[in-house]
Amino acid sequence: MGLSNVYGVPGWGKADGATVIDGKAIAAASRTETAAAVEALLAGGAAAPGLATILVGEDPASEVYVGAKHRACAEAGIRSIDHRLAADCSAAELGELISALNVDPEVSGILLQLPLPGGLDASAFVDLIDPRKDVDGLSTASVGALWRSRPGLVPCTPAGVIELLEQSGAQLEGATAVVVGRSELVGRPIAAMLLAANATVTICHSRSRDLEAICRSADILIAATGRAEMIGPEHVRPGAIVIDVGITRTENGLVGDVDYDAVAPIAAAITPVPGGVGPMTIARLLRNTLHAAELQARD
Ligand code: NAP
Repeated sequence: MGLSNVYGVPGWGKADGATVIDGKAIAAASRTETAAAVEALLAGGAAAPGLATILVGEDPASEVYVGAKHRACAEAGIRSIDHRLAADCSAAELGELISALNVDPEVSGILLQLPLPGGLDASAFVDLIDPRKDVDGLSTASVGALWRSRPGLVPCTPAGVIELLEQSGAQLEGATAVVVGRSELVGRPIAAMLLAANATVTICHSRSRDLEAICRSADILIAATGRAEMIGPEHVRPGAIVIDVGITRTENGLVGDVDYDAVAPIAAAITPVPGGVGPMTIARLLRNTLHAAELQARD
């Protein structure tokens, strides 16, 4: 794992031991690039890409996330269309809305904000989204395409993790990568993408035996558990690249899955929390919406 090439790459800052991977800067550059591509589309006479969001109920956190996505769309020149349904809406009502958006030519991407209120089976509704508009990349069709290395839209946070690694100059091909966490949203798709990049991938979870030893085998260690600071220096091989997907709100603010202060001195590179993986998610959502619009324009 050659890391001598990472210094001087935009988005990297030198900390005491590890190079800090600056997700904020990398996400900002990605958003600027997407905005420029949208501008080029418009200049060529195409319509602006459109992202339809669906929010069911009034979960305050979900309202904040949807609002942030709309603002980010506006900055990138992407139209956003806000659909709201009552928490007690029927399955038929939600299904009909998704079906209508699937055939609406003004809608390039559809985002069903999760979680859904109790009683509505999220995966069934996600699977109703046309895979060409599935900008969250969570439908069974999108997941199947990812594992079969077929073209398709890929989940945003995992795609952001891979972009951070690529921007870092990390050599993925042949690297030993360990992903801690096997969720459908994060751990599994990251593993699929690392495998597609020819890394040798191990997926760990809450039943894994001897987690420390497995993690210590990693050139690239990805933590995605939601267990605050559970990854310590005993899990990290000196010189490894450590990507922390976890976000936990504590009395002292947001913390990741990695004990940053203890791990940074021995890692070659590490993402902070906040300011690491987090900002990449919306950046990749914008990129997926643009990509979806481009694919649909070709059909
Ligand atoms: P999740 O669905 O709760 O999955 C957590 C995974 O971690 C599970 O596979 C679980 O194993 C595993 N795990 C839990 N405790 C463990 C332990 N002690 N040792 C080993 N593995 C353990 O969570 P998620 O949706 O994947 O999210 C993970 C974290 O990423 C959360 O903090 C979340 O907030 C954050 N996140 C951040 C972003 C972002 O934009 N930065 C986006 C999405 C999620 P089992 O399968 O055996 O239960």
